[in-house]
Amino acid sequence: MQRRDFLKKAGGTSLALGAGTVGIKTVRADTTYQWKMVTAWPKNFPGLGTGANRLAELIGEMSGGRIRVKVYGAGELVPAFEVFDAVAQGTAEMGHGTAFYWKGKNEATQFFTAVPFGMTAQEMNGWFYHGGGLALWTELYAQFGLVPAPAGNGGVQMGGWFNKEIKSVADLAGLKMRIPGLGGEVLKRAGGTPVNLPGGELFTALESGAIDATEWIGPYNDLAFGLYKAARYYYYPGFHEPGGTLEAIINQAAFEALPADLQSIVLNACKVLNQDLLAEYTARNPVALQTLLEKHGVAMRRYPDDVLIKLHRLSREVVSELAEKDEFSRKIYTSFRQFLDQSQAWSNLSELAYLQARNLG
Ligand code: CA
Repeated sequence: MQRRDFLKKAGGTSLALGAGTVGIKTVRADTTYQWKMVTAWPKNFPGLGTGANRLAELIGEMSGGRIRVKVYGAGELVPAFEVFDAVAQGTAEMGHGTAFYWKGKNEATQFFTAVPFGMTAQEMNGWFYHGGGLALWTELYAQFGLVPAPAGNGGVQMGGWFNKEIKSVADLAGLKMRIPGLGGEVLKRAGGTPVNLPGGELFTALESGAIDATEWIGPYNDLAFGLYKAARYYYYPGFHEPGGTLEAIINQAAFEALPADLQSIVLNACKVLNQDLLAEYTARNPVALQTLLEKHGVAMRRYPDDVLIKLHRLSREVVSELAEKDEFSRKIYTSFRQFLDQSQAWSNLSELAYLQARNLG
């Protein structure tokens, strides 16, 4: 009753029209904020671009219009790979992308997108929200004046599109492949040449032969780019991104200028999108897979076990060397590794055992 009286009073007079205090700042409750969100994706691209649009809408709705966010596709305000700098410098208040694109800023960023043979989406979210992962990510990005939040996950990705079959690790040697992050480092150890390109350039690069192979995400997004028209074989599983996490980044000064309720709204809108995109991919990937197989006759191939075993060994080398770069990387690696080891024991008894049991019938 008391709370209701308070809200009634606040809504009726003083707070809505006057000034409320939040911490040491005085913030008018009717102050509105006009934000820009730059993204690493083509405008309105299924899942990624539409997810960024949904995040902007959520922030607008949840804040009752007190924050309005205008979304920019890659290249509209800044190119895809300049999202991090644009938000750090305040050109835009927010960005949507993924952390391993910024390994040139700090290699430890790669832990927060995906580690080859690392955690699934479910496990990544456990680590972020309840295992200390997000606190470490926040600490890392604070050095750049940014606040990070997990903001989407497509689940286990596909291995990628190739024009030749991968029957042994030797078949990866000499291969120029678009594969960012630590997965790219693993390919390099296997004798390949990893490159990174923004999603919007993949089809042309593959079709023109500028690259021999590419990974992107999974059926839903790979179908949207028409990658099946430029490559013969579609490999699985995506050992390199078992639960690739998308990120929202927020300019720290812009974030701190918000009253506490709006700060909470922004971060919780990211959390909603993080879960919602996983649900969207869970719903769309199977449909797109069926289209790729039945309509486009795509040749699916599983990486042979001995290729996966070798790549797993190379991944362990790559990741443990990353952990030796500096003290902070070691701290992230230790947290990630401990969480993964514990999760693996449980996931084997739960998800894996159940999926195997379901396939028996
Ligand atoms: Ca990918």
